[in-house]
Amino acid sequence: MVVGSGPGGLQLSYSLTHLRVPHAVISADPAPGGMFRRWPFFQRLLSWTKPFAPFERGTRFYERYDWNSLIPDDDRHRAIQPRLMDGTSYFPSRIEMEQNIATFARETGIRVRYGCRWTGTTRDGEGFRLRTTAGDYRARVVVFAFGLAEPWKPEIPGIEHVPHYADTRAPETYAGKRVFIIGKEVSAFELANGFLPWARQIVLASPRPTQLSVVTNSLVGVRARYVQPFEDHILGGGVVIMNASIDEVSRSGELFRVKTTRSDGGGSLMFEADDVIATTGFQPPLGDLPELGVVSSGREKIPSQTPLFESISVRHVYFAGTATRGAAGLKKNGIPSSSGAVHGHRYNARILARHIARTYFGIDPARPTLKRDDVLDYLLSELSRAPELWHQKSYLARSLLMDAARGIVDDGIVPLQLFVDGEGPDGVAVAVEANPKAEIYPAVYVRKNNVVSEHLLPTNPLLDFETAEHRAQLTAALAPIL
Ligand SMILES: Cc1cc2nc3c(=O)[nH]c(=O)nc-3n(C[C@H](O)[C@H](O)[C@H](O)COP(=O)(O)OP(=O)(O)OC[C@H]3O[C@@H](n4cnc5c(N)ncnc54)[C@H](O)[C@@H]3O)c2cc1C
Repeated sequence: MVVGSGPGGLQLSYSLTHLRVPHAVISADPAPGGMFRRWPFFQRLLSWTKPFAPFERGTRFYERYDWNSLIPDDDRHRAIQPRLMDGTSYFPSRIEMEQNIATFARETGIRVRYGCRWTGTTRDGEGFRLRTTAGDYRARVVVFAFGLAEPWKPEIPGIEHVPHYADTRAPETYAGKRVFIIGKEVSAFELANGFLPWARQIVLASPRPTQLSVVTNSLVGVRARYVQPFEDHILGGGVVIMNASIDEVSRSGELFRVKTTRSDGGGSLMFEADDVIATTGFQPPLGDLPELGVVSSGREKIPSQTPLFESISVRHVYFAGTATRGAAGLKKNGIPSSSGAVHGHRYNARILARHIARTYFGIDPARPTLKRDDVLDYLLSELSRAPELWHQKSYLARSLLMDAARGIVDDGIVPLQLFVDGEGPDGVAVAVEANPKAEIYPAVYVRKNNVVSEHLLPTNPLLDFETAEHRAQLTAALAPIL
């Protein structure tokens, strides 16, 4: 049973269908698309698709340049997003993204029961009974692809007067207004960027300094796409970016008063504004999962998960889509996974489908084998081009296992943490990694007698990992198992 028809639920349903796993998908929405049926508010994504790239559209390697298409097994359904873009930007518009998801659902024939809301969950023998607005479903395994789009506001006196990002009005209604935005993360900057041609004054405030992705050298921080208000602030153009806690919001008539305390010890500061918006984040719509025993963590209350996306506290409850951020992975160099966005979680869904097929339905298609002489070329090619490794750095890996009966077996794309922390036959997992110095380089994990050794290969200015040096270092790393 899958709950949700956003990109996460649809990707999982597609992959389960191809593995011939019987399942049902329900969704509260009337049509496919999930969150992208409404957001981003300013109607253009922050994840890109390059219509022209070094690899041909419709190939697996092209996916590295197309963050937005869902991933089929059949080449006919690959790279749908670039087909729908009009060339004005390499960030698809919201409507192009919605069409991309709807086209994938339609052309691949994914069947969803729309307009059906999950309302409750009870245990039912080994499985579960899901209450929905269209009656009860019984399921042995449930996957929640319910997104992370439920508005959340912190407890600040007067916050009840403040609309959330989700309630932002049409941009022209902010013409000439002073807008105070609570929050300084991506959605705050998306709004501020969109308000630049409308608002008279824009203030963004939260206690901690803004991080920029081009400074953290990762997806952490405000993305380059929305950095313009930051430049406006730095050059004194009128945007105010404050490190300050919000103590209270009060309203008299049409006017808001926001009382803040500066984080630099500079005391309190009062702002008057015509509009205040809380861009304070989102949560998953957990429903009664906490009562069922599902443990969540952090401010965002994302369910804590095993490397295979199962709740750590309730067996047979899994997650897909952006909720798979709850399977944190190794976070090497402090860099998180890309599971919060489509280009990351689309691969998690394929891994989960394979896990469900094998664990619950005994469906486990034979893995291909490799000749010993082909291993080096294959691994170096994967490290240079595999979209799964480039989009999910230090998180997903290509794994080869040494099988006594079959020889060298390609175990596919696996969570790196599972390979590194788990036990199993001798083998190797290769991943692409990055560090805060903006270096991207291959990492090789060799498992011999259940002891794993790590080998970091050099970076390369052209990101070419097929040089003689890489070949020599990989040969040395693989020596104990090859
Ligand atoms: C403002 C904003 C902007 C974003 N921009 C981008 C971007 O540009 N690129 C990108 O890759 N990612 C972006 N993201 C992240 C984005 O949310 C995810 O990549 C993606 O939409 C998540 O897909 P999903 O399927 O997990 O969830 P969603 O798309 O949120 O879909 C959730 C589904 O679950 C269903 N559902 C929820 N509760 C129930 C219930 N009780 N019963 C039945 N069905 C239910 C919903 O109806 C919906 O179909 C953004 C997120 C936000 C909040």
